[in-house]
Amino acid sequence: MKAKTCAHMDQLETIRTPEGEAVCAECVKTGSRWVHLRTCQSCGTTLCCDSSPNRHATRHFQADGHPVVASAEPGEQWLWCYEHQLFTPY
Ligand SMILES: [Zn+2]
Ligand SMILES: [Zn+2]
Ligand SMILES: [Zn+2]
Repeated sequence: MKAKTCAHMDQLETIRTPEGEAVCAECVKTGSRWVHLRTCQSCGTTLCCDSSPNRHATRHFQADGHPVVASAEPGEQWLWCYEHQLFTPY
């Protein structure tokens, strides 16, 4: 059975994940902490999840409109589309 996707996910040719050590690009600037990391599939920026105090991934979607993130956690393979509220393992 094919995993459910949306128009945004259908456009992805490769899944982007962090290069090297994974950090939240915004939290490191301010010395904040994060819980989990997500990588934006539009620009490749890695940011923190909604369990983190600063919720940079959600704020990035609201500010820049990049809809799809992938988990940047080791061993996790899934995509989330903010616009369609769709969770898809890959
Ligand atoms: Zn979508
Ligand atoms: Zn952050
Ligand atoms: Zn982005």
